[in-house]
Amino acid sequence: MKGTTDAAQDNDMPDDGNSCSEQYTLPPWRMNQIIVEVLSVLCEEDFCDAGFDYKQMVASQGIKIKRFSAFSPENIREFRKASLSLWTEGVCLVFPDVDTGATCRMIAYNDEHTAAEIMQIILHEFAHIRLRHTQQCINGELEASCFAVAMTLMIMLGRQLQLGRFLRRKEGKALFLQGIKSAMSQKEVV
Ligand SMILES: [Zn+2]
Repeated sequence: MKGTTDAAQDNDMPDDGNSCSEQYTLPPWRMNQIIVEVLSVLCEEDFCDAGFDYKQMVASQGIKIKRFSAFSPENIREFRKASLSLWTEGVCLVFPDVDTGATCRMIAYNDEHTAAEIMQIILHEFAHIRLRHTQQCINGELEASCFAVAMTLMIMLGRQLQLGRFLRRKEGKALFLQGIKSAMSQKEVV
C-alpha cells in the first residue's frame, strides 16, 4: 500500500534469499526480475509527467532522505558502517525506532554532486530497501546499481517519448507491465 512505512515490504518481488556470495555479475533472470520491479514501482506513480518527483516517490514509501551536509563527518562514518550499502556516496539505514520499535528507513547522500548524479545515488540506496537487502555485499551493490540505472533510464525515456499518454489510458499500466513480463518469458526462437 502506498504511503505507509511498510510499503517497501508489500511488493511481490520474489526473495532471492539475500544470498551474499561474492559474485561479480548477476544471473540474467535476476536482472530481468529487477527490471520488472523497477517498472512495478514506477507504475504506481505517474512517472512520465513533468511534475514527477522521484524524491517524493521514495519519501511516500516512508523513507527519509537526508543530505550528508546535515551531519558531522563522525556521523557519516557511523552511518557507513551500519549502511546496507557498500557505496560510500550514499547510505541506506533500516533500524528500529528506540521508543516505538517501528522500523525506520533513511537514505543519506553526498550532496556535492550534480542533480542527475544525486538521482543515481538516491535510487541506488532506495533499491537496497525495495530489493530487501539485509547486509553489505557485492551482489547487493550490483543489484542496486542495476535498479538505479534501469529506473533512471525509464523515467527519462517515459518523459521524452510521452509514454504517459499510453499509460494514462484505462488499463494502460496493467497492459504495459503484462507486455514486458510476457516478452521476458518468451523462449528463444532458433
Ligand atoms: Zn549500495
